Amino acid sequence: MDTAIITEQSVIDSILSYARMLHPRESILLLTGKVEKHKIIVNDTQIPPLATHGNTFSTFPLHMLPIDFSIMGIAHSHPSGTLHPSVTDLNKFYGRIMLITAYPYKSERNIAVFDREGKKIQFKLL
Ligand SMILES: [Zn+2]
Repeated sequence: MDTAIITEQSVIDSILSYARMLHPRESILLLTGKVEKHKIIVNDTQIPPLATHGNTFSTFPLHMLPIDFSIMGIAHSHPSGTLHPSVTDLNKFYGRIMLITAYPYKSERNIAVFDREGKKIQFKLL
């Protein structure tokens, strides 16, 4: 499926600034929005209800998230600077997309979006 992710600059800014704030710890945010045909529109972020800042994405209890069909996926940060999902990341895939932001979290160039198979998906800013 040739899915395009459409998001707003304000969404990108909150992902980047939250990651900077929690660095060198990992940040985790829920991406909310809607699906339109082959497009996923992400228009907001939410701090997960169970987020304790000691959690990394790999220890985060995904099964305790509320069933909420506006959750398009999860964004998390890689303080190590790598822009690729780990095997654990793919095993913990939730929703339709996985967004990773890597240190130094400066711009959308430090962000990549992946599908369930770990393939990179293009994203556009509105
Ligand atoms: Zn990761």
